Amino acid sequence: MQIPCTQREMDLFETVAGAARQVGVPCYLIGGFVRDKLLGRPTKDMDIVCVGDGIALAHKVAAMLDPSLKVNYFKNFGTAQIRYKDLEIEFVGARKESYNRDSRNPEVTPGTLEDDQLRRDFTINALAISLNKADYGQLLDPFNGREDLQHKLIRTPLEPGATFSDDPLRMMRAIRFASQLDFSIVPETFQAIADHAARIKIISQERITDELNKILLSPKPSVGLDLLYKSGLLKIIFPQMTDLVGVEMVEGKGHKDNFYHTLQVIDNISRHTPDLWLRWAALLHDIGKPATKRFEEGHGWTFHGHDAVGGKMVPRIFARLKLPQHEKMRQVKKLVELHLRPISLTKENITDSAIRRLLFDAGEDLEALMLLCEADITSKNRAKVKRYLENFEMVRERLKEVEESDRIRNWQPPVTGELIMEVFGLKPGRIVGDLKNAIREAILDGIIPNNYEAAYQYMLEKAKELDLTPVK
Ligand code: ATP
Repeated sequence: MQIPCTQREMDLFETVAGAARQVGVPCYLIGGFVRDKLLGRPTKDMDIVCVGDGIALAHKVAAMLDPSLKVNYFKNFGTAQIRYKDLEIEFVGARKESYNRDSRNPEVTPGTLEDDQLRRDFTINALAISLNKADYGQLLDPFNGREDLQHKLIRTPLEPGATFSDDPLRMMRAIRFASQLDFSIVPETFQAIADHAARIKIISQERITDELNKILLSPKPSVGLDLLYKSGLLKIIFPQMTDLVGVEMVEGKGHKDNFYHTLQVIDNISRHTPDLWLRWAALLHDIGKPATKRFEEGHGWTFHGHDAVGGKMVPRIFARLKLPQHEKMRQVKKLVELHLRPISLTKENITDSAIRRLLFDAGEDLEALMLLCEADITSKNRAKVKRYLENFEMVRERLKEVEESDRIRNWQPPVTGELIMEVFGLKPGRIVGDLKNAIREAILDGIIPNNYEAAYQYMLEKAKELDLTPVK
């Protein structure tokens, strides 16, 4: 076997090979599984291609592994899947694809292994391992994919222009693999992406966003995002991001390039969290800057209110990209809106009340917010970075102290609206809300302590000012 495998995988290959012999079809391991094994990466799905009926082979394999196993199959596509323990095994009959200019869907006919390798997107994804008696375990590599793996290169097996024009999603995939694997796209292939970027419009938003998310989840997302920008794809799929590009000069004063600053922030946060939504928050934290950019005489460039404007843009961007509309979107929006707040707490003479307000506003996203703020420090001046990080460490300390004494985080005010209505015999309405807010503000401002007795007493005082008397 020319790939490193566990005993369990070897046993499974033997079973598949035995099943294929019985069905009378040559079969091969192919695609991402072989690529990732050769790279020493963890593998998920196992793809098996056979010259013949993939569905029949899947049924045979399932019967041999465990007769109660379910085979999911799609007759139209000639594909089948088995979930065996934690492994997803996919079967497909080798096929030949020919694209017609007028249709996005290729004409598919049964083919040889070589035909099947030719329809694969990149040389590193076209590697196959034989599971047949004559050459069992042999690597079949017609396009020198192994060499490209060694040199960390993404290259199409066929003429790249045709490859991308036939299925434009491959452009996103090329960039995603470059970012995930830290590979380079060979110049000819990259040029073809730039030439065919406009074709991405025929791909569904869900599939584009899926690739974008994979880029964001890669170890250094800036690699993929910069390639998206340089190829012209980003301008089409996410124009708000390219609006961040560039430095404008007035009176000899420039501002930083907010696009490259953003890329640095994403790389920074990605070193500290695998969370996709924190990475989205990093991507969008300055998205309100182009709309708020002003040059103020004698002062320089300002972006006043870019946090609030950026926060407002988040729901629209999420909707357009078909990202989730609920909890995750709200978290990203909140982080964008609050991303300047911890910085404002690094100044001197910060009151407990300001600290309490951040605890209350950030709630369970406080740690995420601190990570974002720390990632937002991108100065090249090391002494500055060190000083800023120390300042944030102080903010963290203060937040911890105030939280320990006041328990504001994830806090519910001690007097509820229901209680207010009950005590004063009120129906739901503005007065109830006003009283509730007054109690909350008094606690956040430190006028009263955060406990039930103090809040109840305060409610009675405030009610008196409004000529309200308790009914019980
Ligand atoms: P990952 O699992 O990380 O997405 P993968 O390479 O396994 O990576 P899949 O989408 O599972 O990707 O596809 C399996 C194989 O199918 C690929 O390795 C490639 O050979 C082929 N393939 C997938 N999508 C395309 C495409 N759009 N055009 C050509 N070949 C493709």
